[in-house]
Amino acid sequence: MRVVMLGPPGVGKGTQGQRLAREFGIAMISTGAMLRDAVAQRTPLGIAAGREIDAGRLVGDDVMVSLVRGRTQESDAERGFVLDGFPRTVPQAESLDRMLAERRQTLDAVINLTGPDDELVRRLGARRECPLCKRIYNLDSAPPRVAGRCDDHEGTALIQRTDDAEQTVRTRLSIYVEQTAPLAAHYQARGRLIEVDGAGSADRVYDRMKRALQGAGVTQ
Ligand code: AMP
Repeated sequence: MRVVMLGPPGVGKGTQGQRLAREFGIAMISTGAMLRDAVAQRTPLGIAAGREIDAGRLVGDDVMVSLVRGRTQESDAERGFVLDGFPRTVPQAESLDRMLAERRQTLDAVINLTGPDDELVRRLGARRECPLCKRIYNLDSAPPRVAGRCDDHEGTALIQRTDDAEQTVRTRLSIYVEQTAPLAAHYQARGRLIEVDGAGSADRVYDRMKRALQGAGVTQ
């Protein structure tokens, strides 16, 4: 199964995508997480991307396309993948279409998670992440058992992403509207778009998403 998670920052693409990938035994490919790892390791990519990420701007299409081209060819992606955070522009979507066509593969679904802006800003302010396993927490709705620590990695302090600061979040949301939201029409025209309401608890959204995937004949 090959699925794209589409939707604004903070709507739950990572949380829902991680769950879907785990349940179906396919690769979870988050381009944001890949870039943040590159920043942490100070690779040339990380050094170049760090500035854009911190400002809430997008990294260049060519860099992102080659990153995804390589990552989707790794062995854990053979059975399928969930793409979180890619594509983010129409040229990236067109490159993905071409890349999959070359491999005689198709996308099964593009899940468009939706949510109101004020809710997204609130969720991003409360978002924390484990730097080791990337598990996502929310201080309001999905807090860790021990304050500030990962449930699965005892002793590991949760971190807040630098780009989750309120002003940067506003920039990311407006870039989303300008550059990424048009992708819904791109995939609608190809009959791949599945709209899912991202409001409510993570469990409820996951159930909704699973039912929508079943309804579209993507899963049994
Ligand atoms: P995310 O974790 O998906 O919110 O991504 C964090 C940041 O990484 C974004 O604000 C961008 O700066 C960068 N980024 C991630 N994926 C892409 C992409 N597909 N194209 C351009 N920039 C990206």
